[in-house]
Amino acid sequence: MVVLVQGLVARRRGPVGRMPGGAEHRSGRTSNHVSTLPTPPAAIAWGRVGRYDLSRDDVAQLLDGEPAYRATQLWEGLYRHGSDPSELTVLPRPLRERLAHDPRLAPSLVELRRSTSEQGKVVKWLWSLAGRGRVETVLMHYRDRSTVCISSQAGCAMGCGFCATGQAGFQRNLTAGEMVEQVIRAAAAARAGGRRLSNVVYMGMGEPLANYERVWASVERIHDELGLSARHLTVSTVGIVAGIRRLARERLPVNLAVSLHAANDQLRNSLVPVNHRYPLAALMEACRAYLDAKGRRLSFEWALMDGVNDRPRDAAELVTLVRPLRAHVNLIPLNPTPGWPTRGTPPHRVRAFRDELVALGVNATVRRNRGTDIDAACGQLAAAEVGSVDSVASMASAEATGAGASG
Ligand code: SF4
Repeated sequence: MVVLVQGLVARRRGPVGRMPGGAEHRSGRTSNHVSTLPTPPAAIAWGRVGRYDLSRDDVAQLLDGEPAYRATQLWEGLYRHGSDPSELTVLPRPLRERLAHDPRLAPSLVELRRSTSEQGKVVKWLWSLAGRGRVETVLMHYRDRSTVCISSQAGCAMGCGFCATGQAGFQRNLTAGEMVEQVIRAAAAARAGGRRLSNVVYMGMGEPLANYERVWASVERIHDELGLSARHLTVSTVGIVAGIRRLARERLPVNLAVSLHAANDQLRNSLVPVNHRYPLAALMEACRAYLDAKGRRLSFEWALMDGVNDRPRDAAELVTLVRPLRAHVNLIPLNPTPGWPTRGTPPHRVRAFRDELVALGVNATVRRNRGTDIDAACGQLAAAEVGSVDSVASMASAEATGAGASG
Protein backbone atom coordinates (compact mmCIF):
# COMPACT_ATOMS: atom_id res chain seq x y z
CA MET A 1 0.00 0.00 0.00
CA VAL A 2 1.27 3.35 -0.65
CA VAL A 3 1.63 4.99 2.53
CA LEU A 4 3.21 7.75 0.82
CA VAL A 5 0.15 7.75 -0.97
CA GLN A 6 -3.04 8.51 0.59
CA GLY A 7 -6.13 9.51 -0.84
CA LEU A 8 -9.49 10.03 -0.06
CA VAL A 9 -12.82 10.03 -1.40
CA ALA A 10 -13.10 7.06 -3.58
CA ARG A 11 -14.37 8.32 -6.84
CA ARG A 12 -14.02 4.94 -8.29
CA ARG A 13 -14.45 1.61 -6.71
CA GLY A 14 -11.65 -0.77 -7.31
CA PRO A 15 -11.76 -4.51 -7.39
CA VAL A 16 -11.78 -4.67 -3.67
CA GLY A 17 -12.11 -8.35 -3.25
CA ARG A 18 -9.26 -9.20 -5.52
CA MET A 19 -5.92 -9.61 -3.89
CA PRO A 20 -3.36 -9.90 -6.60
CA GLY A 21 -0.78 -12.36 -5.62
CA GLY A 22 -2.42 -13.16 -2.37
CA ALA A 23 -4.59 -16.09 -3.12
CA GLU A 24 -2.67 -17.77 -5.81
CA HIS A 25 0.71 -17.99 -4.18
CA ARG A 26 0.40 -19.72 -0.92
CA SER A 27 3.15 -20.14 1.54
CA GLY A 28 6.09 -19.87 -0.69
CA ARG A 29 8.26 -19.42 2.37
CA THR A 30 10.29 -22.08 3.85
CA SER A 31 12.38 -22.10 6.95
CA ASN A 32 15.46 -21.68 4.80
CA HIS A 33 14.94 -18.00 4.25
CA VAL A 34 18.50 -17.29 3.24
CA SER A 35 18.98 -19.68 0.44
CA THR A 36 15.64 -19.65 -1.24
CA LEU A 37 13.67 -16.76 -2.52
CA PRO A 38 10.49 -18.01 -4.04
CA THR A 39 10.77 -17.86 -7.77
CA PRO A 40 7.80 -15.70 -8.55
CA PRO A 41 5.55 -17.02 -11.22
CA ALA A 42 5.05 -13.45 -12.38
CA ALA A 43 8.76 -13.04 -13.02
CA ILE A 44 8.77 -16.14 -15.14
CA ALA A 45 5.74 -14.92 -16.98
CA TRP A 46 7.56 -11.71 -17.77
CA GLY A 47 10.40 -13.66 -19.16
CA ARG A 48 13.18 -13.25 -16.65
CA VAL A 49 14.31 -13.14 -13.09
CA GLY A 50 16.75 -10.46 -12.02
CA ARG A 51 20.03 -10.82 -10.15
CA TYR A 52 18.44 -10.23 -6.77
CA ASP A 53 15.91 -12.99 -7.34
CA LEU A 54 18.72 -15.51 -7.33
CA SER A 55 19.42 -17.57 -4.24
CA ARG A 56 22.91 -18.34 -2.97
CA ASP A 57 22.57 -21.76 -4.51
CA ASP A 58 21.63 -20.17 -7.83
CA VAL A 59 24.73 -18.00 -7.67
CA ALA A 60 26.87 -21.01 -6.83
CA GLN A 61 25.49 -22.82 -9.86
CA LEU A 62 26.35 -19.87 -12.07
CA LEU A 63 29.92 -20.30 -10.92
CA ASP A 64 30.04 -24.02 -11.35
CA GLY A 65 33.63 -25.07 -11.96
CA GLU A 66 35.06 -22.10 -10.06
CA PRO A 67 36.43 -22.29 -6.50
CA ALA A 68 33.61 -22.13 -3.94
CA TYR A 69 34.81 -18.81 -2.54
CA ARG A 70 34.03 -17.13 -5.85
CA ALA A 71 30.33 -17.52 -5.13
CA THR A 72 30.81 -15.75 -1.81
CA GLN A 73 32.73 -12.97 -3.51
CA LEU A 74 30.00 -12.50 -6.07
CA TRP A 75 27.24 -12.66 -3.47
CA GLU A 76 28.92 -10.11 -1.26
CA GLY A 77 29.67 -7.91 -4.21
CA LEU A 78 25.99 -7.88 -5.10
CA TYR A 79 24.68 -7.31 -1.57
CA ARG A 80 27.36 -5.60 0.49
CA HIS A 81 28.63 -3.30 -2.21
CA GLY A 82 25.72 -3.18 -4.63
CA SER A 83 28.21 -3.77 -7.39
CA ASP A 84 27.68 -4.91 -10.91
CA PRO A 85 29.53 -8.20 -11.53
CA SER A 86 31.62 -6.43 -14.16
CA GLU A 87 32.96 -4.13 -11.42
CA LEU A 88 34.11 -6.88 -9.09
CA THR A 89 37.84 -6.64 -9.52
CA VAL A 90 38.25 -9.33 -6.92
CA LEU A 91 37.17 -11.74 -9.64
CA PRO A 92 39.51 -12.68 -12.49
CA ARG A 93 38.85 -10.68 -15.61
CA PRO A 94 37.66 -13.59 -17.81
CA LEU A 95 35.13 -14.54 -15.16
CA ARG A 96 33.97 -10.95 -14.79
CA GLU A 97 33.44 -10.73 -18.50
CA ARG A 98 31.47 -13.96 -18.58
CA LEU A 99 29.27 -12.86 -15.70
CA ALA A 100 28.75 -9.44 -17.20
CA HIS A 101 27.08 -11.09 -20.18
CA ASP A 102 25.02 -13.60 -18.23
CA PRO A 103 21.38 -12.54 -18.53
CA ARG A 104 20.56 -14.15 -15.18
CA LEU A 105 22.76 -11.55 -13.53
CA ALA A 106 21.26 -8.60 -15.34
CA PRO A 107 19.66 -5.88 -13.23
CA SER A 108 15.87 -5.77 -13.08
CA LEU A 109 15.56 -2.02 -12.96
CA VAL A 110 16.41 0.38 -15.73
CA GLU A 111 16.63 3.97 -14.61
CA LEU A 112 14.35 6.16 -16.69
CA ARG A 113 14.60 9.24 -14.58
CA ARG A 114 16.22 10.47 -11.41
CA SER A 115 15.11 13.68 -9.73
CA THR A 116 16.50 15.38 -6.69
CA SER A 117 15.20 18.14 -4.49
CA GLU A 118 15.78 19.84 -1.17
CA GLN A 119 19.51 20.17 -1.83
CA GLY A 120 19.81 16.49 -2.52
CA LYS A 121 17.89 15.37 0.55
CA VAL A 122 15.23 13.71 -1.57
CA VAL A 123 16.01 11.53 -4.56
CA LYS A 124 13.32 9.93 -6.63
CA TRP A 125 13.75 7.31 -9.31
CA LEU A 126 11.43 6.17 -12.01
CA TRP A 127 12.37 2.67 -13.11
CA SER A 128 11.37 0.59 -16.03
CA LEU A 129 10.92 -3.03 -15.04
CA ALA A 130 12.14 -5.84 -17.19
CA GLY A 131 9.13 -7.23 -18.98
CA ARG A 132 6.60 -4.57 -18.17
CA GLY A 133 5.74 -1.82 -15.78
CA ARG A 134 7.22 1.25 -14.21
CA VAL A 135 7.62 1.97 -10.57
CA GLU A 136 9.19 4.58 -8.42
CA THR A 137 11.48 4.65 -5.42
CA VAL A 138 12.22 7.59 -3.16
CA LEU A 139 15.25 8.08 -0.94
CA MET A 140 14.98 10.63 1.84
CA HIS A 141 17.82 11.88 3.98
CA TYR A 142 17.17 13.21 7.45
CA ARG A 143 19.52 14.50 10.04
CA ASP A 144 19.79 11.14 11.76
CA ARG A 145 18.81 8.59 9.13
CA SER A 146 18.27 7.84 5.48
CA THR A 147 15.07 6.11 4.48
CA VAL A 148 14.09 4.54 1.21
CA CYS A 149 10.48 4.11 0.23
CA ILE A 150 10.02 1.25 -2.20
CA SER A 151 7.21 0.03 -4.43
CA SER A 152 5.79 -3.48 -4.15
CA GLN A 153 3.54 -3.56 -7.20
CA ALA A 154 3.31 -1.89 -10.57
CA GLY A 155 -0.04 -0.21 -10.16
CA CYS A 156 -2.52 -1.22 -7.51
CA ALA A 157 -5.88 -2.97 -7.42
CA MET A 158 -7.10 -1.38 -4.20
CA GLY A 159 -8.92 1.39 -6.02
CA CYS A 160 -8.48 4.30 -3.60
CA GLY A 161 -9.93 7.08 -5.71
CA PHE A 162 -7.58 9.80 -4.56
CA CYS A 163 -4.51 7.85 -5.47
CA ALA A 164 -2.75 8.08 -8.81
CA THR A 165 -1.45 4.55 -8.55
CA GLY A 166 -4.91 3.22 -7.82
CA GLN A 167 -6.39 5.18 -10.69
CA ALA A 168 -3.87 3.69 -13.09
CA GLY A 169 -5.00 0.19 -12.18
CA PHE A 170 -3.05 -2.95 -11.42
CA GLN A 171 -0.30 -4.19 -13.71
CA ARG A 172 1.63 -6.80 -11.84
CA ASN A 173 3.31 -7.81 -8.63
CA LEU A 174 6.97 -7.02 -8.28
CA THR A 175 9.30 -9.90 -7.61
CA ALA A 176 11.19 -10.04 -4.35
CA GLY A 177 14.36 -9.29 -6.27
CA GLU A 178 12.85 -6.17 -7.81
CA MET A 179 12.08 -4.87 -4.34
CA VAL A 180 15.51 -5.78 -3.01
CA GLU A 181 17.12 -4.07 -5.98
CA GLN A 182 15.32 -0.82 -5.22
CA VAL A 183 16.92 -0.93 -1.79
CA ILE A 184 20.33 -1.84 -3.15
CA ARG A 185 20.26 0.98 -5.68
CA ALA A 186 19.15 3.51 -3.07
CA ALA A 187 21.81 2.29 -0.64
CA ALA A 188 24.45 2.79 -3.30
CA ALA A 189 23.22 6.33 -3.94
CA ALA A 190 23.23 7.05 -0.22
CA ARG A 191 26.78 5.72 0.07
CA ALA A 192 27.90 7.88 -2.81
CA GLY A 193 26.65 10.88 -0.85
CA GLY A 194 28.43 9.83 2.31
CA ARG A 195 25.30 8.48 3.98
CA ARG A 196 24.23 5.06 5.13
CA LEU A 197 20.81 3.74 4.29
CA SER A 198 19.14 2.98 7.61
CA ASN A 199 15.42 2.44 7.01
CA VAL A 200 13.21 0.80 4.44
CA VAL A 201 9.51 1.51 4.18
CA TYR A 202 7.15 -0.37 1.88
CA MET A 203 5.04 2.63 1.11
CA GLY A 204 5.55 3.23 -2.56
CA MET A 205 3.30 2.03 -5.33
CA GLY A 206 1.09 -0.92 -4.57
CA GLU A 207 -0.39 -2.65 -1.56
CA PRO A 208 2.39 -4.73 0.02
CA LEU A 209 0.11 -7.23 1.72
CA ALA A 210 -1.55 -8.01 -1.61
CA ASN A 211 1.84 -9.27 -2.78
CA TYR A 212 2.57 -11.02 0.47
CA GLU A 213 5.03 -13.82 -0.29
CA ARG A 214 7.33 -11.69 -2.39
CA VAL A 215 7.22 -8.76 -0.01
CA TRP A 216 8.08 -10.98 2.89
CA ALA A 217 10.84 -12.72 0.96
CA SER A 218 12.33 -9.30 0.24
CA VAL A 219 12.03 -8.28 3.90
CA GLU A 220 14.00 -11.33 4.92
CA ARG A 221 16.61 -10.82 2.24
CA ILE A 222 17.05 -7.16 3.24
CA HIS A 223 17.27 -8.14 6.89
CA ASP A 224 19.60 -11.07 6.42
CA GLU A 225 21.87 -9.84 3.67
CA LEU A 226 21.89 -6.08 4.11
CA GLY A 227 21.86 -6.20 7.87
CA LEU A 228 18.93 -3.86 8.48
CA SER A 229 17.16 -4.75 11.70
CA ALA A 230 13.43 -5.39 11.78
CA ARG A 231 12.84 -2.21 13.72
CA HIS A 232 14.14 -0.32 10.71
CA LEU A 233 11.78 -2.02 8.30
CA THR A 234 8.19 -0.86 7.94
CA VAL A 235 5.44 -2.59 6.04
CA SER A 236 2.37 -0.55 5.31
CA THR A 237 -1.12 -1.61 4.40
CA VAL A 238 -4.39 -0.02 3.53
CA GLY A 239 -6.01 -2.56 5.83
CA ILE A 240 -5.76 -6.12 4.57
CA VAL A 241 -6.65 -7.93 7.74
CA ALA A 242 -5.62 -11.39 6.56
CA GLY A 243 -2.17 -10.04 5.73
CA ILE A 244 -1.77 -8.32 9.09
CA ARG A 245 -2.64 -11.54 10.88
CA ARG A 246 -0.13 -13.42 8.80
CA LEU A 247 2.50 -10.80 9.44
CA ALA A 248 1.97 -11.32 13.16
CA ARG A 249 3.14 -14.92 12.75
CA GLU A 250 6.38 -14.09 10.96
CA ARG A 251 9.76 -14.33 12.64
CA LEU A 252 10.75 -10.68 12.21
CA PRO A 253 8.92 -7.97 14.20
CA VAL A 254 8.77 -5.31 11.51
CA ASN A 255 6.92 -2.06 12.04
CA LEU A 256 3.37 -1.93 10.82
CA ALA A 257 1.81 1.22 9.39
CA VAL A 258 -1.88 1.30 8.55
CA SER A 259 -3.36 3.85 6.22
CA LEU A 260 -6.59 4.71 7.95
CA HIS A 261 -7.94 8.07 6.74
CA ALA A 262 -11.34 7.56 8.31
CA ALA A 263 -12.52 6.23 11.64
CA ASN A 264 -16.07 5.24 10.76
CA ASP A 265 -17.04 2.65 8.20
CA GLN A 266 -19.30 4.86 6.17
CA LEU A 267 -16.60 7.41 5.43
CA ARG A 268 -13.86 4.82 5.09
CA ASN A 269 -15.89 2.82 2.61
CA SER A 270 -15.97 5.88 0.41
CA LEU A 271 -12.26 6.60 0.69
CA VAL A 272 -10.69 3.16 0.91
CA PRO A 273 -12.80 0.54 -0.86
CA VAL A 274 -11.04 -2.39 0.81
CA ASN A 275 -12.90 -1.33 3.94
CA HIS A 276 -16.00 -3.03 2.53
CA ARG A 277 -14.18 -6.31 2.84
CA TYR A 278 -12.28 -5.56 6.03
CA PRO A 279 -14.30 -3.10 8.10
CA LEU A 280 -12.81 -1.12 10.94
CA ALA A 281 -13.73 -3.51 13.74
CA ALA A 282 -11.88 -6.36 12.05
CA LEU A 283 -8.96 -4.09 11.18
CA MET A 284 -8.55 -2.86 14.73
CA GLU A 285 -8.73 -6.40 16.06
CA ALA A 286 -5.94 -7.44 13.71
CA CYS A 287 -3.87 -4.42 14.77
CA ARG A 288 -4.33 -5.40 18.41
CA ALA A 289 -3.20 -8.94 17.58
CA TYR A 290 -0.12 -7.57 15.84
CA LEU A 291 0.71 -5.35 18.78
CA ASP A 292 0.31 -8.26 21.20
CA ALA A 293 2.44 -10.56 19.05
CA LYS A 294 5.26 -8.19 18.19
CA GLY A 295 5.22 -5.42 20.74
CA ARG A 296 5.96 -2.87 18.08
CA ARG A 297 4.36 0.52 18.18
CA LEU A 298 1.72 0.82 15.51
CA SER A 299 1.34 3.87 13.36
CA PHE A 300 -1.72 5.07 11.53
CA GLU A 301 -1.62 7.37 8.57
CA TRP A 302 -4.27 9.98 8.09
CA ALA A 303 -4.34 12.08 4.94
CA LEU A 304 -6.16 15.22 5.92
CA MET A 305 -8.79 16.40 3.45
CA ASP A 306 -10.55 19.65 3.73
CA GLY A 307 -14.00 19.18 5.22
CA VAL A 308 -13.91 15.41 4.75
CA ASN A 309 -11.98 13.94 7.67
CA ASP A 310 -10.56 16.95 9.49
CA ARG A 311 -13.49 17.91 11.69
CA PRO A 312 -13.56 17.70 15.50
CA ARG A 313 -15.80 14.67 15.33
CA ASP A 314 -13.30 12.95 13.04
CA ALA A 315 -10.60 13.56 15.63
CA ALA A 316 -12.83 12.19 18.38
CA GLU A 317 -13.61 9.03 16.37
CA LEU A 318 -9.96 8.54 15.57
CA VAL A 319 -8.99 8.82 19.21
CA THR A 320 -11.53 6.18 20.14
CA LEU A 321 -9.87 3.74 17.75
CA VAL A 322 -6.20 4.36 18.31
CA ARG A 323 -5.81 5.35 21.93
CA PRO A 324 -6.41 1.82 23.25
CA LEU A 325 -3.60 0.65 20.96
CA ARG A 326 -1.22 3.38 22.15
CA ALA A 327 -0.63 4.01 18.48
CA HIS A 328 1.01 6.95 16.80
CA VAL A 329 -0.87 8.99 14.22
CA ASN A 330 0.89 10.60 11.30
CA LEU A 331 -1.06 13.43 9.76
CA ILE A 332 -0.36 14.14 6.13
CA PRO A 333 -2.08 17.04 4.43
CA LEU A 334 -3.49 15.77 1.16
CA ASN A 335 -1.48 16.88 -1.82
CA PRO A 336 -3.28 18.91 -4.43
CA THR A 337 -3.97 16.76 -7.44
CA PRO A 338 -5.30 17.65 -10.85
CA GLY A 339 -8.73 16.21 -11.32
CA TRP A 340 -9.29 15.55 -7.66
CA PRO A 341 -11.64 18.11 -6.25
CA THR A 342 -10.91 17.69 -2.57
CA ARG A 343 -8.22 19.97 -1.21
CA GLY A 344 -5.82 19.22 1.54
CA THR A 345 -6.61 20.67 4.93
CA PRO A 346 -5.01 24.12 5.32
CA PRO A 347 -1.99 24.30 7.65
CA HIS A 348 -3.66 26.05 10.58
CA ARG A 349 -6.40 23.41 10.69
CA VAL A 350 -3.87 20.62 10.35
CA ARG A 351 -2.22 21.94 13.48
CA ALA A 352 -5.59 22.27 15.20
CA PHE A 353 -6.42 18.66 14.33
CA ARG A 354 -3.11 17.51 15.74
CA ASP A 355 -3.63 19.55 18.90
CA GLU A 356 -7.06 18.00 19.31
CA LEU A 357 -5.58 14.50 19.12
CA VAL A 358 -2.81 15.34 21.54
CA ALA A 359 -5.27 16.90 23.97
CA LEU A 360 -7.25 13.68 23.86
CA GLY A 361 -4.20 11.60 24.68
CA VAL A 362 -2.96 10.43 21.28
CA ASN A 363 0.56 10.94 19.97
CA ALA A 364 0.29 12.69 16.64
CA THR A 365 2.76 14.27 14.28
CA VAL A 366 2.29 16.37 11.22
CA ARG A 367 4.47 14.98 8.53
CA ARG A 368 6.03 16.98 5.83
CA ASN A 369 5.34 16.18 2.23
CA ARG A 370 8.84 15.66 1.07
CA GLY A 371 9.88 16.19 -2.46
CA THR A 372 6.59 17.35 -3.82
CA ASP A 373 8.53 19.64 -6.12
CA ILE A 374 9.73 16.53 -7.90
CA ASP A 375 6.43 14.73 -7.65
CA ALA A 376 7.75 12.59 -4.90
CA ALA A 377 4.28 11.91 -3.72
CA CYS A 378 3.66 8.27 -4.27
CA GLY A 379 2.46 7.37 -7.68
CA GLN A 380 2.81 10.82 -9.16
CA LEU A 381 5.86 10.46 -11.30
CA ALA A 382 5.06 7.02 -12.55
CA ALA A 383 1.49 8.03 -13.16
CA ALA A 384 2.60 10.99 -15.22
CA GLU A 385 4.92 8.80 -17.22
CA VAL A 386 2.30 6.24 -18.05
CA GLY A 387 -0.26 8.84 -18.94
CA SER A 388 -2.38 8.84 -15.85
CA VAL A 389 -3.10 12.05 -14.16
CA ASP A 390 -4.26 12.52 -10.67
CA SER A 391 -2.20 11.53 -7.84
CA VAL A 392 -1.98 12.13 -4.29
CA ALA A 393 0.08 10.64 -1.79
CA SER A 394 2.34 12.19 0.55
CA MET A 395 5.80 11.06 0.40
CA ALA A 396 5.72 12.16 3.89
CA SER A 397 7.80 9.20 4.79
CA ALA A 398 9.08 8.15 8.08
CA GLU A 399 9.69 11.71 9.12
CA ALA A 400 7.40 11.54 12.04
CA THR A 401 7.89 8.15 13.51
CA GLY A 402 11.44 7.50 12.63
CA ALA A 403 10.36 4.18 11.31
CA GLY A 404 8.15 5.30 8.59
CA ALA A 405 4.55 5.08 7.88
CA SER A 406 2.35 6.16 5.24
CA GLY A 407 -0.95 5.71 3.98
S1 SF4 B 1 -4.80 2.59 -4.45
FE1 SF4 B 1 -3.20 1.23 -3.68
S2 SF4 B 1 -1.32 2.44 -3.75
FE2 SF4 B 1 -3.03 3.87 -3.85
S3 SF4 B 1 -3.45 4.49 -1.71
FE3 SF4 B 1 -4.82 2.75 -2.19
S4 SF4 B 1 -3.68 0.95 -1.51
FE4 SF4 B 1 -2.17 2.63 -1.65
